[in-house]
Amino acid sequence: MPDCIFCKIIAGEIPSTKIYEDELVYAFLDISPINPGHVLVIPKEHHESASTIPEATAGRMFRIGSRIGIALKRLEAYDAYNLHLADGMAAGQVVMHAHLHVIPRGVEDHFHWNWRQLPYASDEDRTATAEAIKAKLSL
Ligand code: 5GP
Ligand code: ZN
Repeated sequence: MPDCIFCKIIAGEIPSTKIYEDELVYAFLDISPINPGHVLVIPKEHHESASTIPEATAGRMFRIGSRIGIALKRLEAYDAYNLHLADGMAAGQVVMHAHLHVIPRGVEDHFHWNWRQLPYASDEDRTATAEAIKAKLSL
């Protein structure tokens, strides 16, 4: 993808700070981290959406992401990590080459997800929501 910033990083045309690389994935430091050590794991093949990444590559992304998360936990500054993936602009995806964020977390890092917890109007509403999703699910 000629205009993709992450494809250019994989090709070495834009510098990056590499953490890990194999035949399927590339992992590097996010340039504007939530906490220092924030890593992005990307497929070497260009995919805008995580949904089109072949299963072996998607599995490798998750495996390497969690292994990097364990490495981050071994650093003195951190106790935990978040894995985060935004699929689509409305979800906050800015770079349109799918990427898994590995975000190191400390108990006093002063970062909080703005995570609301809405109620369902009724049991029927919850069931209807599940049925609507299942009707659209293609594997
Ligand atoms: P998104 O919001 O799409 O989930 O995340 C995109 C991420 O890519 C952001 O966290 C941003 O800091 C990071 N990013 C954008 N451009 C570059 C770049 O040129 N180099 C690196 N290392 N990270 C980048
Ligand atoms: Zn790309």
